[in-house]
Amino acid sequence: MADKKNRRLEVVIKFKNRDFSTLRTKLLADSSREYYACLLGKRQLVDNLCIITVADIYFADAEYYQNQSVAALRVSGEFLRERLLEIDRRIDVDTMIDVHTHPFSQSNVWFSGTDDRDEINFVKYLHDEGAKNIFYASIVLSQTDYKARYWQMDGGGRIYPTPALIKTQKIGESIPSSDERFRRKAVSSQKIDDMFNRSVLALGLDNMRRIANDQIISVIGVGGIGSIIAEHLIHMGFNHLNLIDFDTLEISNLNRIVAATYADAVKGRVKVEAIRDNLLKINPRAKIFAFNNKVEDAPIERVIAASDWIMVATDNHASRFQIQQLAFKYYVPFITAGVNITVDDGKIVDMSGEVILIRMGDRVCLTCLKRLKFNEIAKQIHPDKNVREGLVRKGYVQGLDVKEPAVKTLNTHLATLAVDTLINQYIERQRDAVIRVFEDNIAPVIYEDVDSVRERNLSCNICDI
Ligand SMILES: [Zn+2]
Ligand SMILES: [Zn+2]
Repeated sequence: MADKKNRRLEVVIKFKNRDFSTLRTKLLADSSREYYACLLGKRQLVDNLCIITVADIYFADAEYYQNQSVAALRVSGEFLRERLLEIDRRIDVDTMIDVHTHPFSQSNVWFSGTDDRDEINFVKYLHDEGAKNIFYASIVLSQTDYKARYWQMDGGGRIYPTPALIKTQKIGESIPSSDERFRRKAVSSQKIDDMFNRSVLALGLDNMRRIANDQIISVIGVGGIGSIIAEHLIHMGFNHLNLIDFDTLEISNLNRIVAATYADAVKGRVKVEAIRDNLLKINPRAKIFAFNNKVEDAPIERVIAASDWIMVATDNHASRFQIQQLAFKYYVPFITAGVNITVDDGKIVDMSGEVILIRMGDRVCLTCLKRLKFNEIAKQIHPDKNVREGLVRKGYVQGLDVKEPAVKTLNTHLATLAVDTLINQYIERQRDAVIRVFEDNIAPVIYEDVDSVRERNLSCNICDI
């Protein structure tokens, strides 16, 4: 922990689904001159991570260009002042991000001396205007890559940039950075372990590189579904997993938790640690981190903020609510998987489950889909014990100690569907579906629940960002 202060700031600029490709398409359509756009975003700091979430994109209309040629650009002060006034007015944004193109560069783009000078002058201007709470970053686009940076001024008035990485909701939308610091990790130079030869045959080398290359997947809840998801991810070639669960193993878990042994259960080992140790036996080169925590615990915020995807396999509504809050705060897309088994009079009357895909910008979330039960959340997080117990007593919610029926075969279907949904984000073989249902009643079927999506609350204040 001693070196914590010296850790370099890691800056990531994150876009909503489709926004980055819209931005590039529009700005790069005419390669005869430079174009400009201004993004408004929110800066989120957690530990040494600085995540700038992009809320809005403003394209400068022709009238705002004072000078526009193949290698020069000047946008009117009026256009920029309007944006600054808007940041001042709004509470959901505090950062301005300049974007301009170098259409003459095919790749390996860099900020020019003029760019440096203009941007440093802008930081000075913000400082002189006393706009201390307005942050500033910039992006330059070539035809195929980009460079991005975040500007700061230190106590001594020195103005300096930190290179920034751009992340999109879907990896297919992303393009490489030409910054040395990030190029070392470039997808195209990634070696794929021999262990995944057969996966490469199925999914293709480039797709496997995307999956194996620096993607961080957090699995929340490593019970009956989450442990299978985690094992699937290791077999599919993901190299960096975070396992998050506060529970310990019991003998009664052994009918469904993958990678947990009888000896682990007898010892009452922490679930995430037992599962991590056993998954590392499958792929000792993978980075698997075990967090014996609840999602509400402070260290988990950074873990989630730094993730590329969250796989949610907890049936606890308060946890799912908390995960969704963090996901929207840091623009981390997530996939939830859950099952239902209803037994009446000793007979199974329903055996089903669903997988839900939530990405920022898609304007759909667990809240407007009515997949979060607020009475359950109140029971789980209400500070007053009497209220919590009262909700159970009044029959609004089940008691905490109710043991849900569980069978591994059903969990396996849903875990597989969830991981397939994730893989599809990289290989884009199938059309995306927000909700996929697996039903195993009259006969096993998988279908898309379009009704829930159509009937969702369209003025949702969580996902309308
Ligand atoms: Zn430039
Ligand atoms: Zn919503």
